Amino acid sequence: MSSPKGDIGLIGLAVMGQNLILNAADHGFTVVAYNRTVSKVDDFMANEAKGKSIIGAHSIKELCENLKRPRRIILLVKAGKPVDLFIEQLLPYLEKGDIIIDGGNSHFPDTNRRYEELEKQGILFVGSGVSGGEEGARYGPSLMPGGAEEAWPHIKDIFQSIAAKSDGEPCCDWVGPAGSGHYVKMVHNGIEYGDMQLICEAYDIMKRLGKFTNQEIGDVFEKWNKGVLDSFLIEITRDILKKNDDDGKPLVEKILDTAGQKGTGKWTAINALDLGMPVTLIGEAVFARALSALKDERVEASKILGGPTIPEDTSKIFTDKAKFVDDLEQALYASKIISYAQGFMLIREAGKTYGWKLNNPAIALMWRGGCIIRSVFLAEITKAYRENPELENLLFNKFFTEAITKAQSGWRKTIGLATEFGIPTPAFSTALSFYDGYRSKRLPANLLQAQRDYFGAHTFKVLPECANDHLPAGQDV
Ligand code: NAP
Repeated sequence: MSSPKGDIGLIGLAVMGQNLILNAADHGFTVVAYNRTVSKVDDFMANEAKGKSIIGAHSIKELCENLKRPRRIILLVKAGKPVDLFIEQLLPYLEKGDIIIDGGNSHFPDTNRRYEELEKQGILFVGSGVSGGEEGARYGPSLMPGGAEEAWPHIKDIFQSIAAKSDGEPCCDWVGPAGSGHYVKMVHNGIEYGDMQLICEAYDIMKRLGKFTNQEIGDVFEKWNKGVLDSFLIEITRDILKKNDDDGKPLVEKILDTAGQKGTGKWTAINALDLGMPVTLIGEAVFARALSALKDERVEASKILGGPTIPEDTSKIFTDKAKFVDDLEQALYASKIISYAQGFMLIREAGKTYGWKLNNPAIALMWRGGCIIRSVFLAEITKAYRENPELENLLFNKFFTEAITKAQSGWRKTIGLATEFGIPTPAFSTALSFYDGYRSKRLPANLLQAQRDYFGAHTFKVLPECANDHLPAGQDV
């Protein structure tokens, strides 16, 4: 038999798999393609893959036989059981040192488990976050691989070739051990929830308080997209707001106001609770979607629960429209800084708790392009972590300390106005509360600890400056 030609194998010919194969083929790699429903292999080979360096395989055996050593196989199938099923089916055809990469949206504890099980069998397992949807997969996704580090030299070239580029640098680097690649992808998705919620709050304030038309709101987003908030999500929001239906009415206003979720934001919030990290903004973003889903109850509540009346005459709310918009931009920017600071706090804590040495400067770079949260802002975060990979908190970096200080006045004014007139701002508000808590040398937790001790004998520690003979410092009393 002639020597195998395949550089990499890919299982899963749905949107993500097909597009990633075409992307890899465009970059000069020969890809062997397989799918559970084998007829999809033939369809793909006869259409999209025609004339490209792609080999169709009709069985797992054929897939493995067509791959150069060490074999490199990417799974892009539905997360959960299908990943385990394919690993099981692959094992009889693999040798020690071969590499399995799970590119789906697997939960990181599953990746930890698979990594450990496969390590015992000498198979190098990589869990890679893949972000950017089908467009990203086709023309350059953000890739976040972690797991068996010995695999990295064998997949680096392919991964960095097909990944998105930011200022010429690939948005892909080694994240760290075990399930850390999927962990970082999970936090990325949580941050995406936060970014989207913040943008929605800005839209709601402009619509309900500012009485802006959708075109005007679109213009504001267009302007913001040329400044510090320049990002994919602001850009698509501009387009959405300017889109009218056939009758000339804004399409977005015809959409039912209940948001769905697939669960990765929830995973992030749950993990933050598990690790005791105050990742409040992502938590609020998940809860905001949950509240939106209670449409029928909200309609009932709107008839009986009172609140402030929003005046028709906006001069009773603000006198300077441009200043109102500038303040709102500051609120969005400052809240976004908090959200990313919290996301990186969580990643840092996960590194400590799970014993992962993480490539912090590379994480922001991986999110810089190709993915949904890509933004100019991430270049500053990359810079901050390159200056100090062990940075304790993003807010301690000079650029971000100054940026949030400058944004504070507009941030507080915006939240004040929204609160006064009854516009909900869960993400803006929790970001500001976190900021005020984080910068508080003294919090009311002294009283809380006294309450715990009162009813549950939980003991307390005494402030060093207040210690005396019967209240010694630093001990539980
Ligand atoms: P998908 O709809 O999540 O999965 C379809 C693929 O999984 C098909 O190849 C299908 O095979 C296979 N599959 C489903 N159930 C199976 C089972 N019980 N046993 C074996 N194979 C099974 O496809 P996708 O949207 O392309 O996503 C692939 C992965 O990437 C997922 O983990 C997804 O969460 C993740 N992801 C998706 C996006 C996106 O924008 N779509 C973005 C980032 C990450 P058959 O053809 O035989 O049914």
